[in-house]
Amino acid sequence: MFICDNLGANADGHLTFAGQDTAALAARYGTPLYLMDEARVRHNCRVYRDAMRAHFAAGSRPLYAGKANCFAQLYRIMAEEDMGVDVVSCGEIRTAEKAGYDLANAYFHGNCKTDADIACAMARGVGYFVADNADELAAIEAEAARRGVRQKVLLRLTPGIDTHTYEAVNTGRVDSKFGAAIETGQAAELTALALRQAHIELTGFHCHVGSQVFAEDVFERAAVVMLEFIAAMRDAHGYTAQQLDLGGGYGVRYVADDPVLDIGEKIASVAAAVHAACARLNIPEPAILLEPGRSIVADAGLTLYTVGAVKRIPGYKNYVAVDGGMGDNPRFALYKSRYTVLPAGRMDAPRPLDCSVVGRCCESGDIIQENVPMPEDIRRGDLVAVCTTGAYNYSMASNYNRVPRPPIVMLRGDESFVAVRRETFDDLCALDA
Ligand SMILES: *Cc1c(COP(=O)(O)O)cnc(C)c1O
Repeated sequence: MFICDNLGANADGHLTFAGQDTAALAARYGTPLYLMDEARVRHNCRVYRDAMRAHFAAGSRPLYAGKANCFAQLYRIMAEEDMGVDVVSCGEIRTAEKAGYDLANAYFHGNCKTDADIACAMARGVGYFVADNADELAAIEAEAARRGVRQKVLLRLTPGIDTHTYEAVNTGRVDSKFGAAIETGQAAELTALALRQAHIELTGFHCHVGSQVFAEDVFERAAVVMLEFIAAMRDAHGYTAQQLDLGGGYGVRYVADDPVLDIGEKIASVAAAVHAACARLNIPEPAILLEPGRSIVADAGLTLYTVGAVKRIPGYKNYVAVDGGMGDNPRFALYKSRYTVLPAGRMDAPRPLDCSVVGRCCESGDIIQENVPMPEDIRRGDLVAVCTTGAYNYSMASNYNRVPRPPIVMLRGDESFVAVRRETFDDLCALDA
């Protein structure tokens, strides 16, 4: 009945999340409010970790892609759950560092790392760089030489796989802005270049084919293309890759008609493809890395809002406006992303009203979701919950219209605590001269 089994309803007709009453949480912490279910984050980590340990070669592990949601408490959980992390900026690196996360387990991504980024990451002991292109490789070599170290590096390649997801999150194709294409020969050139650098230790290759991927065998096909490339590099240079990073991207369920992915089964199936390809190509099995972001945190998150206005335009449309919007969740505006939206304080009321739930920003595109069923008499002061907001909401939030960003409250057992406090007006003005 609910989109995820950490949701429910209690005798008061209130939505529950991670076993706690969302109306009570809204009353205590105010709205808009991000909630995170710590047990669910840990569960999602363990599903990946256990399956990868069971099926892949030694050294294989999941890396949490911090861009999905990044704050210190999450990195503490990642350290405790023995997760590697994928970081894409010095901001993420320093957040992990602040949380006491051991950066030797961090992989530094991005298609345009600046000299300052590279220096920051090396100074802080980031274990691995994932180099996107030749310009960046030269900059990494120069900084490593300056420091007199040998930096471990993976190369980001595009295997030419189309994931049939939304254009903006489809990154594994030949014409992508990310990585070097195998098909054009540029991946082989980049590999030869990396192998010639004195201060770079090439540990392997990376690809990331897309996000919110449900399609049948995308990761299996990507693995085979990448392993064939590894075999070709062995033949060309006598070089054996130790690591193959297949990126992130498994889809999560936002609405009832999204499929449910069994991550354990998916990993077993990728492992079967890896075993078969390595045997056929006669190469040793590299350690496999996966970089789940969304599938670690999405269903561990929920956003609560308070209704500010209800507008009925007879013969046209109904609007329910809430006290947040594209500032805390830009995903409908960016991708027309779907979400399950619920009347959190009145779960037992029938929902005959078809409405658009919209935000408070001065922008017609500030929509949270269209065609949401709501109680006929929904009114100012009612609570609205948007489910599955743990990924790409807080991390993409902005201060558009100078609206402070909501806090993140972590739910742990029967307890709750503020993991990120609500922004204040002083915070908003802190940078102004
Ligand atoms: C976005 C991204 C991820 C995480 O993707 P999800 O869809 O959140 O699992 C992992 N690796 C790279 C390189 C990415 O760009």
